[in-house]
Parts: sequence; C-alpha cells; structure tokens
Amino acid sequence: MPPHTDRAKEARLTTYDKNDCPQCNAWLLAPEWSEYLSERCVRHTWSCEKCGYQFETSVFFAAAPSEADAA
Ligand SMILES: [Zn+2]
Repeated sequence: MPPHTDRAKEARLTTYDKNDCPQCNAWLLAPEWSEYLSERCVRHTWSCEKCGYQFETSVFFAAAPSEADAA
C-alpha cells in the first residue's frame, strides 16, 4: 500500500488517468468543468471534441486516518 503523503498529487493522478473518451477513445486534455462537491469529492465534466460525447467522473479522496498525524 503506497503512503498517503500527498493527497493533492494523488488526486491529480486520479484525474488524469481518466482523460480519454469512452466512446471514441480520443484524448481529452482537461475536464471542461470541475465541481467541488465537498472536501473529499470532486466531479469532473468531460466533453469530447471529436464525437461530442459528454460524461462525468467523480473523484473521491480517501480519508487519511492518523498517518498524516505522525509528528
Ligand atoms: Zn469522443
């Protein structure tokens, strides 16, 4: 299990892991819209330039237990 030292970095990796159109497999550079639903949930709205397909992905950040609390 990887250490949870940088949540922001992890979120970015998760985001850019889902940047291809599920319909035509075109590469999507960035989400058209990102909405912060809560502290631990972000919803991205994607729009494909090639086929016009639109879809949403939700990113949930795992609650870091007491690991980050270590001093
Ligand atoms: Zn597409």
